[in-house]
Amino acid sequence: MPAARYRCRSCGNLTRFDVTLSRRTRAFHHYTVGGDLTVEDEDVLDERIEEVSCRWCGSPRAVEPMAAGSSGAEGGDEGGAGSAVVIEEAT
Ligand SMILES: [Zn+2]
Repeated sequence: MPAARYRCRSCGNLTRFDVTLSRRTRAFHHYTVGGDLTVEDEDVLDERIEEVSCRWCGSPRAVEPMAAGSSGAEGGDEGGAGSAVVIEEAT
């Protein structure tokens, strides 16, 4: 899955963003008999971007999503000014 990309219209930043997101995951919590935990096989069940702000100028309003790659499963969303953006991020 292509990673989401953003662009700041205010300062032209393409590479530094503070991303606030809600992520719902399911994972295999693997404990030792002594109680030490290792988290394995974490699956992202749901992920919602709440805010993306520019790391350089700090503006959350000037940041817009860029169409990612060429395999556009969501190609219709490009250019929608106020539309919600759902992005899945490979970890
Ligand atoms: Zn900026």
